[in-house]
Parts: sequence; C-alpha cells; structure tokens
Amino acid sequence: MADTKELYDMIIVGGGPAGLTAAIYGGRAGLKTLVLERAMVGGQAANTHLIENYPGFPEGIGGWDLMQLFLAQAQRYGAEVVTSTVTALSDMGNEKLVHCGDIVYRSRAVIVASGAGPRPLGVPGEEDFSGRGVSYCGTCDGPLFRDKTVVVIGGGNTAFQELIFLSRFVKKIYLVHRRSEFRAQRVLVDEARENEKLEFCLEAEVVSIYGSNVVEGVKIRQKGEERDLKADGVFIFVGHSPHTEFCQNFLALDEGGFLLADPDLRASRPGFYGAGDVVSKDFFQVATAVGEGAQVTHSILMDFQVQDQ
Ligand code: NAP
Repeated sequence: MADTKELYDMIIVGGGPAGLTAAIYGGRAGLKTLVLERAMVGGQAANTHLIENYPGFPEGIGGWDLMQLFLAQAQRYGAEVVTSTVTALSDMGNEKLVHCGDIVYRSRAVIVASGAGPRPLGVPGEEDFSGRGVSYCGTCDGPLFRDKTVVVIGGGNTAFQELIFLSRFVKKIYLVHRRSEFRAQRVLVDEARENEKLEFCLEAEVVSIYGSNVVEGVKIRQKGEERDLKADGVFIFVGHSPHTEFCQNFLALDEGGFLLADPDLRASRPGFYGAGDVVSKDFFQVATAVGEGAQVTHSILMDFQVQDQ
C-alpha cells in the first residue's frame, strides 16, 4: 500500500462547483486541502454551454469559463488539485483514508462531492450506437450534427437547455418526451416553443434506436401508434445517476444510490461529508452546490473545534 505520508485536513472527492467551493472555504480557513478529480475539473457544469441562472453574470457565463474561475480561486487559497480516480474509502478512527487504487491519501475529513453523470435510457440500440450517433452531451457533440436531424429525449432542464444549444447547428430536432407536461423551467420551455426547428413528440416512448454503422433513426410509440423518426443523432437527457460506487457498503445511500447526509451535510460516518449533486435531494443547481460547498466546510470546522477541545 503506497502512502502519501502527509495528513490532509480535508480531502474533497470531486472538483465540480461543490468541491471547488469547499476548497476555497477550506483554503481560506487554513485547512490543508486536497481535491481529487478523476477527469476534467468543473464537473457537469463545465460541459454546459451557457449558465444563465448563476448570480453575478447577467448575460450568463459559459460553464467551462465559470469553472476555471472557481479553480483559480481554490488554487489561490492553496488547495492542491490532483487527477486521480477514487476507488474506495476507509476509516482508521482519527484518520480517514481515500484509496485511489494503490495510492492512499490520509485526511482528518473527507467530502464526497463526486457529482452525478447522465443516466442511460436503457433501450435497444443505445449502447451499440453510443459514440456513433448516441450522445449525452449536446455542448460536446452538437457541432458534429450541423445541418442534420436529431432526436432529443427527456423533458427536464437539461433536455431543454441542450436542445436550445443544438438548434444552432442542426436542421431539425424531434423532442421525444413521455408526458405532455415538462419538468423544465417555464422560461426554457417558452424559448423552445418559439423554435421553428423543433417538433414535439409528446406522450411518446422510445422503442429502439436503429442504424447500420451509425444511427439512422429512432422508433417511438406515441399514443399507441408506432412511429419512425429518421435521424442522424440521438441526445439522451433522462436524469442523472450519482457517482457513489466508491461509497458502496461504507456510507449510507438512498435507493437511487445518492449519498444520504444531514442538513449540515454530515454523511453516515463521523468525518465523512457530502456536497453537491451526489447528495440525495430534489433540487440540483450550480447555486445550490456552491451553498453546500460553503456549508460543508463550516460543518467540518465546527467538528474540528469539538475534536480539538
Ligand atoms: P430531470 O429534471 O430529472 O429530468 C429528467 C427527464 O427525463 C424528465 O422529463 C423525465 O420525465 C425524463 N425521464 C426520466 N426517465 C425516463 C425514462 N426512463 N424514459 C423517458 N423519459 C424519462 O433531469 P435533468 O434535466 O438532467 O436535470 C437534473 C437536475 O439538474 C435538475 O434538478 C435540474 O433542475 C438540474 N439542471 C438545472 C439546469 C438549470 O438550472 N438551468 C440545467 C440543467 C440541469 P418525467 O418528467 O416524466 O419524469
């Protein structure tokens, strides 16, 4: 077992809005802080073309740009950011261990801020055509579908935000949603309704995604009738699954796999905490993730005070 030898005050698993905010607050409080991020800093927010509801940016701000500002601020206050995938957590009493394969980091407190990723729809063809027409990120893949026809699946904020972005490139968009009402904010739905490239396919379920080498279309069942939507791409936005594999059988999770935490963001074991989209709740925003990043650091500082008495 490799060991980093040094003991951190706070290790944050995940460098999205919640994790980076915790790092800013931790750094400013003088805590020795490490952020472990498996891929790109910024999490899902960094893949969002334009964030229009984060205060302070009346014209909106690109998700990537906003996350780079968070990162710069965290580093300015001394947070270390390391690219590594956390595989397990363990508890040695006063020291909490964060395992990244053979490398083990030691800390007084651990914040799980590992976020969530797109949930698959689970229909025939989805896996086969993943990366060959099936995508979970309009901001990343939209430009590949210039002047093409795409199907967007889902009726939440992500589906609407992404289809508005996709409409800049594509010729036509079918929006397939299983109900006739939407979860998405009204401002987004109203903007989409104005868009002449968009055709709504409501009360419709996806039967399969088909093609030969690449996607050629989607079969749907709408109000009992089968329909064939010819398309070059399929964008799936049907919610998120939490990144909590490394917490299994160690921290309490809800039935969807999201981390259970109390209102002050303490997880089910002393010294372990949660923040951001990975935590079980019903509202997921950059603004709420930021609030939780601040709150969780406050909880840790309170717990350290008690321990140090
Ligand atoms: P979401 O709000 O949970 O919406 C998921 C959508 O997918 C719903 O319309 C749902 O339909 C549909 N769906 C789920 N399972 C399905 C299935 N098996 N078959 C067909 N359709 C299915 O997820 P999200 O849009 O990814 O948003 C996640 C969170 O991020 C939300 O809290 C959202 O507010 C937040 N977010 C915020 C912004 C923003 O503030 N601008 C942007 C993006 C995301 P039903 O409605 O029928 O259940």
